[in-house]
Amino acid sequence: MLDWSDTDTTAAAPAAPASTLATALPPQTQLKLEPVDPTGLGAIDRTGGRVSVDEKRMINCRADVNQLLPLKYKWAWEKYLSGCNNHWMPTEVSMQADIALWKSRDGLTEDERRAIKRNLGFFAASESLVANNIVLAIYRHLTNPECRQYLLRQSFEEAVHTHTFQYIVESLGLDEGELFNMYREVPSITDKAAWALKHTQHLDNPSFQTGTPDSDRAFLRDLVAFYVVFEGMWFYTGFAQILSLGRRNKMVGIAEQYQYILRDESIHLNFGIDLINQIKIENPHLWTPSFQDEIRGMIRDAAELEAAYGRDTMPRGFLGLNAALCEQYMHFIANRRCAQIGLAPVFAEVENPFPWMSEAMDLKKEKNFFETRVIEYQNGGALSWD
Ligand code: FE
Ligand code: MN
Repeated sequence: MLDWSDTDTTAAAPAAPASTLATALPPQTQLKLEPVDPTGLGAIDRTGGRVSVDEKRMINCRADVNQLLPLKYKWAWEKYLSGCNNHWMPTEVSMQADIALWKSRDGLTEDERRAIKRNLGFFAASESLVANNIVLAIYRHLTNPECRQYLLRQSFEEAVHTHTFQYIVESLGLDEGELFNMYREVPSITDKAAWALKHTQHLDNPSFQTGTPDSDRAFLRDLVAFYVVFEGMWFYTGFAQILSLGRRNKMVGIAEQYQYILRDESIHLNFGIDLINQIKIENPHLWTPSFQDEIRGMIRDAAELEAAYGRDTMPRGFLGLNAALCEQYMHFIANRRCAQIGLAPVFAEVENPFPWMSEAMDLKKEKNFFETRVIEYQNGGALSWD
């Protein structure tokens, strides 16, 4: 069975086992190209040779970044194909049951409404922050065309996710200003957004460029902040909240959309894990014990921010879900993320308090579960869930 809480076992696009990441590291000295613009926007070199696989690098590449082939990082290309096979649009999900429940007088408690609205508010702005980080920070400095190909696909998926929140606001008749401003007006959400945004701001500075240990580490920090923390930790407690309601037959349309988002996000996460691990392989000097401690500190701080958000969004808890359980889940997830990038755990070992997450996220079984519409949507039909 698919276990989405343990993302290295997902069939959609698992993080590559370390053995499949590219390990060959021929010396860069054989490369003839003088300072090449890592963005791909420099003058065209009319006399340069063709790019060989050996010249390709994740960051600080000295070879032309505008040539997709020959492929070096097959795991990145596989993620691109998996993303394309998962195409969906939010408007294909019926919102009728959600509208009826939301407008009913006693279908939802005040606590449930508060949690739903803050959850939507958190995601609504977060999808834009993630998209901005890809386009304005990561893309420019990631000097590999197959990874950039995936970033382009991921950017579109972030647009689809933002569209989802527009569609939910419109369907339920929510106050759009209230929802889309929560990242500015609700402190527990602002704290998370600001924590991540500072990394985008740093890389987006026109004077920032990779190539020194300090700046290369700044790039890695940004990857950790967005792929490991934002998409890999904070989104997961958000999914747990909504899917918990969904399995109790509440807000089933939103829950279905969250399942699709989660399927996308699990690939985003695994791409980010592979990205970080590949950069570590190619630049082992960056991954010092003190830098590892720093990254573990980031993950610990991020879990604290999430715990505060949990207490704020679920002051009393509802239907078997409460802030303490969400905090425990965050500790469980944080330790898993540490293991995925080769770090020691940051919290004492805890059990997964939401073992149902893996089942709730199995899109194939989903059809009987919610009895809504066709759930398994694929464009091209090439995805295997076994
Ligand atoms: Fe997203
Ligand atoms: Mn994402």
